[in-house]
Amino acid sequence: MYDIIIIGAGPAGLTSALYALRANKKILVFEAKSYGGQILNAHMVENYPAIEAISGYDFATNLYNQVKKLGGEVVFETVLKITEDYKVITSKKEYQAKTIIIATGAENRKLNLENEQEFVGKGVSYCATCDGNLFKDKVVAVNGGGNTALEDALYLANLASKVYLIHRRQEFRGEAKYVKEVSKMANIELVLDSQIKTINGKDKLESIKVTNKDGQENTLKVDGLFIAIGQEPKNELFKNVVDLDEKGYIISNDGVHTKTPYIYAAGDVRQKQLRQLTTAVSDGSIAAVTAIKEMPKEEA
Ligand code: NAP
Repeated sequence: MYDIIIIGAGPAGLTSALYALRANKKILVFEAKSYGGQILNAHMVENYPAIEAISGYDFATNLYNQVKKLGGEVVFETVLKITEDYKVITSKKEYQAKTIIIATGAENRKLNLENEQEFVGKGVSYCATCDGNLFKDKVVAVNGGGNTALEDALYLANLASKVYLIHRRQEFRGEAKYVKEVSKMANIELVLDSQIKTINGKDKLESIKVTNKDGQENTLKVDGLFIAIGQEPKNELFKNVVDLDEKGYIISNDGVHTKTPYIYAAGDVRQKQLRQLTTAVSDGSIAAVTAIKEMPKEEA
């Protein structure tokens, strides 16, 4: 019997673990892939209070080590289901919890082009920090208009010979600071009001076809395509214990509570106004403290 089972070892889940361990609670953290979550994709975090600049990898690793040092255990098993009686069923075993914190974040959104997945690892990537090095002195494209796409374009412009930044509108959603920096880079070419229609190549990516709002087509020869069009939650498997909004985020109107007592949602996984590192760690701490306060007491 665990006091708290935390699903997801991103910033929200690991912060929950940190607070629960410091309160002497028996916990387990499950992670399907690698610890860190989406922040691993950020080459540099420059908006976390009191830390001027830190790589996403270092941030995640520091937090992971902090949890390990307190005796926290991260189990790399995929969670398949939460039952109404607080069992967490993974690909390997069943675990019983008193309380559960869902902190599974969100996945990279796909363009859903016909052969997109076939080209992953053959030119198409969702992580510039992870794969950017493969494209030194080559031509790449970044798709998206948020902070991730802008940061990716800037990062890749220092590696690749040329970067096309393709966005479906004129205005960027990302911060003005990054938009200004992008406009200063001579090897970044903006392709605005445009959508990618096809991904082409034989054994590896060779070109993409882009269409603008007037229907004009343009073929861009590229070696790499970095898709940075946001994230989507994957919460269908928790539907028996939480309500989801129309986009698939967990509804937790009053903060971290879900519709089921003792099951909480923290971080990008839940419906909220701002998905940032700061709000993820805030959720993580609130979820842990709330779970500790509300958890069923041991029978005497
Ligand atoms: P985002 O802010 O949701 O932006 C996604 C972008 O992709 C939008 O410009 C959107 O276009 C576009 N898009 C969505 N679906 C598309 C589709 N099917 N085809 C083409 N374009 C599509 O995502 P993000 O940039 O990954 O950022 C996620 C969150 O993390 C944000 O809150 C962001 O501020 C934060 N973040 C912060 C930092 C930082 O502070 N250093 C770094 C990275 C991310 P529209 O604009 O037309 O909707």
